[in-house]
Amino acid sequence: MDVYIDKPKCTGCHHCFDVCPVAVFEMRGRGTSGNPDADGANKDNAPENMKWKGVSDSAIKQKWENVKDGHNHFAEKSDGKSGGISVGVNGSACILCQACLIECEGECIHIVDDTGTKYQSIYK
Ligand code: SF4
Ligand code: SF4
Repeated sequence: MDVYIDKPKCTGCHHCFDVCPVAVFEMRGRGTSGNPDADGANKDNAPENMKWKGVSDSAIKQKWENVKDGHNHFAEKSDGKSGGISVGVNGSACILCQACLIECEGECIHIVDDTGTKYQSIYK
């Protein structure tokens, strides 16, 4: 299984990190304006158009930046509960339980199984 994130759409909600039973995700920092990948935000196999280049998707940002649900949306770094950006560092462990796929605020998790079938998150 390959698991990667469409980085500009990640709000940093930590839902994927919190629900995954096999620790596929890590939360990394959003880097600096000069080096957005300074903390390894692009350490998964996201294709070029889904890599983190320091700019969030405008529609996702508009949807979530002022939502008061206890998450520090789009914060540069994780505070342990929210913030930062998700990276699919351990996709080979994925058991396709789909828990992350219904919890992802940015609808930005992509999973490709060993047959090439693709799954994408849809926020419940
Ligand atoms: S579908 Fe895979 S990546 Fe998502 S929560 Fe389940 S095991 Fe983790
Ligand atoms: S659930 Fe989605 S939006 Fe939230 S941190 Fe994970 S990848 Fe990002």
